[in-house]
Amino acid sequence: MRYTMLGKTDFNVSSLGFGAMNLPGVPFEQARDALNFALDQGINYIDTAAGYRNSEEIIGASISHRRDEFFLATKTNKRDYAAAKEEINRSLERLQTEQVDLLQIHYVNYVHEFKAVMAEGGAYEAALEAQREGKVKYIGITGHRPELLAKWISKGQFDQVLFHLNLAQPFALNELIPEATGQNMMKIAMKPLSGGFIQPVETAIRYPYSQDVHVIISGMTSRQEVQENMAAMEQEVGDGERVELEQLADELGEHNCRRCNYCSCPLEIRIPDVMISSKIREKFGLLPKGEEFYQMQKDQFLSCADYEPCKDKPLCEQKCPYHLPMRKVIMESVSYLTRSVSK
Ligand code: SF4
Ligand code: SF4
Repeated sequence: MRYTMLGKTDFNVSSLGFGAMNLPGVPFEQARDALNFALDQGINYIDTAAGYRNSEEIIGASISHRRDEFFLATKTNKRDYAAAKEEINRSLERLQTEQVDLLQIHYVNYVHEFKAVMAEGGAYEAALEAQREGKVKYIGITGHRPELLAKWISKGQFDQVLFHLNLAQPFALNELIPEATGQNMMKIAMKPLSGGFIQPVETAIRYPYSQDVHVIISGMTSRQEVQENMAAMEQEVGDGERVELEQLADELGEHNCRRCNYCSCPLEIRIPDVMISSKIREKFGLLPKGEEFYQMQKDQFLSCADYEPCKDKPLCEQKCPYHLPMRKVIMESVSYLTRSVSK
């Protein structure tokens, strides 16, 4: 595992960050053990959010007594000043700390949301106030639209940016990472497994590890997962391996889905997961996580073909800023499922 200076801070950060989003789903003892084990192993970046159920409380109860050993990042998804201020104070209480190292404005995907955040009376004002009061050290932003994030950070108002970077979503490399590098911002990559679809874990992690980012946040819930993630970063990525990984990312990232979630489906088809897993399916066949997902959504996929309101023009495709052919990809998934049943 590599250590680098984190942007303009004087913090020497581990390349693996502990993503705490899934901790509320496991027994508390296990969560506490995973967090303490990660710190013992030298992981020193912990990522959570006010919106991750009781993840902040678990962190507070498990490792607040070791507060000087890690960089603590949380998020607010509130857009106005008053709500964000309240949430920041609640986060500090739940995390049992007087200061978080980083507060991120969470999941900003639309231009109107960004405008609301930055306007007078917006959440950014609450973040600046918390910074003046010493409750927050740095301010960052997260989102699923890399090209918009690249524009939004260009005015120098943020210290950090958090984005997807994985073999199926290499899009941050185009404009976002160069812009953040130019400003010496903290560059934090998330979802190396793209929701569990990319495996094996080692290959998945080594792709963002080969790129110009400070930290790769991976969701972990046990000692075993901490060890597995760390093992993938045992050795640096050589030139030959980097080229192979980039070729794989060219193939798997071809579907172009950013997971922006603009395309909600009335049948509750998880469109971004279909788009992302389709290329993986073509290349490797379905991995266990993908197989489970396809079986779970099978009935919805079948209904999509005859869904009356989408007959002339798919509702989802009208909302996609990248004009992606979602229904075609879903129909290919139906053919795949039909073929696998008839085998
Ligand atoms: S075309 Fe299919 S996936 Fe798209 S909105 Fe309609 S039912 Fe949902
Ligand atoms: S299919 Fe399009 S609208 Fe839907 S999540 Fe992907 S990029 Fe966004």
